Amino acid sequence: MATIFCIANQKGGVGKTTTTVNLAAGLARLKQKILLVDLDPQGNATMGSGIQKTALDASIYEVLLGLSDVESVLQRASTDYYDILPANRELAGAEVEMVDIERREKRLKEALDSVRNRYDFILVDCPPALSLLTLNAFCSADGVIIPMQCEYYALEGLSDLVNTVKHVHANLNRNLRIIGLLRVMFDKRATLSQHVSDQLEKHFGDRVFKTIIPRNVRLAEAPSYGLPGIDFDPSSRGAQAYLNFAQEMLEWLKVNH
Ligand code: ADP
Ligand code: MG
Repeated sequence: MATIFCIANQKGGVGKTTTTVNLAAGLARLKQKILLVDLDPQGNATMGSGIQKTALDASIYEVLLGLSDVESVLQRASTDYYDILPANRELAGAEVEMVDIERREKRLKEALDSVRNRYDFILVDCPPALSLLTLNAFCSADGVIIPMQCEYYALEGLSDLVNTVKHVHANLNRNLRIIGLLRVMFDKRATLSQHVSDQLEKHFGDRVFKTIIPRNVRLAEAPSYGLPGIDFDPSSRGAQAYLNFAQEMLEWLKVNH
């Protein structure tokens, strides 16, 4: 039975998609069966997995609205070792169109239930908002992974995210919890990065992952080749860090399940 993690932060450009795609690739290399769910209308995880978002017959949008089943939307990523439910801008309409649907916050959960026993992990790449789409991710997940840049405004908005997770835990999904904060795009020469990083450790203790993802241009170049950074340049510092993170998540699972 798959453990479901969503990668969330309502800020854009903080490394959610990069983390989701590379964690998928990293866990797959560790022999885990992975399904990646692209829940962002920008479709960056779809493109970053080598799938043309403009050429989809069906996407996660149809799944959420009950127009297609998961099976017929599933695709194999370009690297051929994880599955993906792709997304494109059609998904932006789902927010509005789901308003009249019953149990609208549970649509993703119900869809994933049908394939959950086939995977070890399902990773959901969330959009940059605490929206109905993100709520669907929270209702289906066992845990939230929060990528953060260690910069001055990093903590701003974090309490909204934490409160939303608490609310969902209390009212909609007892399984949900914050697994941890992942420091990404880290610049170890910058005093500010180090300072914010220390603050995070002080406040969140062991809910800050040990692995730190450095700023690394190879990770940023990879999506334009339709590849996770781990496959694009396996020896790069960014790829190595995400491999370590995948290992850390596997160990987390051993301890927590
Ligand atoms: P989000 O999904 O939160 O919007 P992305 O993962 O798309 O964020 O990252 C935002 C931008 O930063 C992208 O251009 C991505 O390639 C780049 N990026 C992400 N992580 C790193 C990193 N560790 N080093 C360098 N660039 C990165
Ligand atoms: Mg993204």
